[in-house]
This record gives sequence, structure tokens and C-alpha cells, in this order.
Amino acid sequence: MERTKEQRMLKIPPRKIMTPGPVEVDPRVLRAMSMPILGQFDPAFTQIMNEVMVMLREAFQTKNHWAYPIDGTSRAGLEAVIASLIEPGDRMLVPIYGRFGDLFVEIGERYGAEIHTMSCPWGTVFDPQDVINEIKKVRPKVVALVHGETSTGRMQPLAEIGHACRELDTLLVVDAVATFGGADVRVDDWCLDAVIGGAQKCLSVPSGIAPITYNERIEKVILSRKKVERGIATESDKKVASAMPIRSNYFDLSQLQDYWSERRLNHHTEATSMEYALHEGLHLVLDEGLEQRFARHLLNEKALMAGIEAMGLDLFGDPDCKMPTVTCVSVPVGVNADDVRNVLLDQFGIEIAGSFGSLQGKIWRIGTMGYGCRKDNVLAVLAGLEASLIRCGVTVCRGEALQAAMDVYDEAAD
Ligand SMILES: *Cc1c(COP(=O)(O)O)cnc(C)c1O
Repeated sequence: MERTKEQRMLKIPPRKIMTPGPVEVDPRVLRAMSMPILGQFDPAFTQIMNEVMVMLREAFQTKNHWAYPIDGTSRAGLEAVIASLIEPGDRMLVPIYGRFGDLFVEIGERYGAEIHTMSCPWGTVFDPQDVINEIKKVRPKVVALVHGETSTGRMQPLAEIGHACRELDTLLVVDAVATFGGADVRVDDWCLDAVIGGAQKCLSVPSGIAPITYNERIEKVILSRKKVERGIATESDKKVASAMPIRSNYFDLSQLQDYWSERRLNHHTEATSMEYALHEGLHLVLDEGLEQRFARHLLNEKALMAGIEAMGLDLFGDPDCKMPTVTCVSVPVGVNADDVRNVLLDQFGIEIAGSFGSLQGKIWRIGTMGYGCRKDNVLAVLAGLEASLIRCGVTVCRGEALQAAMDVYDEAAD
């Protein structure tokens, strides 16, 4: 079929994206992405790489030497860490409280881990002591834990588990994809050994780059698995390499860290424009200030929750472990969740998310992340949701949602 000129045109409808990612990208990030390409060994570019590492350490609140991005979406960061740590037969414990715990299981299995899982009902998190008891029982090499579980909107406290892992000589790998840049992630204080952050969530950078950080405990394992061929390994590399080489080439952290070190050993071609985007995104986070940024996320969350409740809807999940960047709303009985989402998108250009598995059709998930985490967006999603519910035949308290949310903002301004 011949395509008309009209059909060949890229058409992007205006949207407010209020999902748990991808979210609206900060225009300053989009501008950075349109800058000219540099060669990856150009000192001007390696300078940018070094700045990214410095800013990542600050955003991850760590003194770790290694803090750099993996090219690929967030799960590329998860896979790089797991691939580089897990040898066939290694025990890996995954406490699962939502869908992203399953992702750790899936990746660990592919690299031959002996997987042990524990679970708790969706909408809650683990009592840290239960996880610690399980670690003592299983004695895993790696514990893989999600910090902010976007599928259920819950946040797992990590400090106690982190300290216990240090004592028990277990490596703690944390998926902080949906909290990094929007809620406190204290890599050093909480004794997290490897942490993966996200780009298209609270950093408001497009999907396609995954910031990670890890400490010497992780580095020791990685170096022991360094491949010694190819004439690039140093004598000291050869001395420490004892274990089975890392199975993945693209996700081999021992090679990637050489690429990010002063040695600049070639691995893949760095995704130049994504690097610019990450640089600008991190700059914006640190410019705002971590504390101020987290406070902004909490304020918008509070206004959104107040509005939802004033609308007569129920929030889903245990409020004590709610993620500040994702708010889950129970779909009223008899209402088709997707019908309401479709009206919201068609009439208002606002996108919210459904959920997965047992929660599919049962909850809506509203993201307030990064650049999209703003008063105008919160008020718009409340107005749109209320109107869409009425359109779908639901009788709700008309007009009260916005007033409740505006009250929260007014109080904060006083
Ligand atoms: C979004 C998300 C991921 C996956 O990210 P991709 O960029 O889609 O690979 C992993 N973990 C959590 C908690 C997430 O919210």
C-alpha cells in the first residue's frame, strides 16, 4: 500500500502521562538530546561521562567508586548486575511482593541461579525480620529486592535488611528503578551492595539508559569472573580471575567498568544522546536538591490522595508502606477499569495505568514522578478522573476532589 504524505508524518498527540513510567520528559532533557553527537573517545565526551559518574554518586548518596549507566532500559541494569554476579548453582533469594520481584526470578533463573522465593500479599511489604530469618536459613549469595514495587505501589524498608546482609556476608541487590530521584535511596547508609535506578521514572529521562552503582564487595565477585583472553587483561586481572566468566558479553560489568575507567577500553558504542539526557536529568535533580525533590513528591502525593478520597474512592494497599511516587486506587465494584481509563485518555489526553495479575481491573495506578509530579497535573488528573467516572455512570461526590487537593497545596504554601 502506498502511504500518503500525511500518513508518513510523525504525529504525537498532546498528553499528560500520569502512569508509573514512562513519564513526561523534562523539555530541558529533550533539548540536551538534540545536541550534536561526539565521538566516544573524544575528551569532550569522556568529560561528560566523568560528570555523569560524579552526579550519579551524589544522586545515589554513595561513596562507591562505581556508578555509571548501562545502555538499555532499566531491566538491562537489573540483568547486568545479576548476570555478572550469578554463576550456575549460586543461591539467590527473592522476596516477592509484586510483579517486579518475579522479574528478578526470571533473570536469575536464566543465569542458572538456584532460586529461593518468599512472598507476602500484594499491597503489603515484608517485615524485615522475616527476610533476615529467611536469609539465615537459605544462606544465599545474593538477595534481590525491589525498593519501590510499581505494580502495587508499595515501598520496602531496606536499612535493617541491608545491615543484616552485611553481617551475614550476603550481597544485597536492589531494584530502585521507580524510587531513584523521587524518594530517598540511601545506598551507603542502608548497606545496599548494588542498586539499579531508572531513567523514565523519577528522573524524567526517556527510557533507554539504566544507572547503576555497586561497591567493592560486588566488584570483587565481578573481577573474579573477568575473562582473561583477548589480550586486554592486565597481569593483575589474570591473578584475580578464578571463577567462571560472565555469560553475557553486553552485560559484562567487568568489561563495562573498564570502559568507564580511565583505561577507556572499548566495549560497545556509548549511546551518546542518552548520555546527554542522563547528564541533564541528573543535573536537574541535583540542582533542585534531593531533599527538596523528595518533599515535592510527598506534597503532590498528599494532594492527590486527598483528592481521591474526597472523590469517594478508596486507596489500595497498606498506607504504612505506600510508595510516594505511585498512588493505587481501588476500582469501584461494577466499574470497568479500562472504560474509565479510555474516557480519561480520549477526552482529557491524560494517561493513567491499570495493573497486572491478580490486580488487573481491580486498581488504577497514578504516577507522580519527576517532571510530571506537579500541581497542575495532579489537579488535571483529579478533574479528569471524576468527570470520566461520572461519564461511566459512577455517582461520586462532585467537585470535592479538587477542593480537597487545593486545600493541601494552600496549607503547604502558608
Ligand atoms: C519500570 C520498572 C522496571 C522495568 O523497567 P524497564 O525500563 O521497562 O526495563 C523494573 N523495576 C521496577 C520497579 C519498575 O518500576
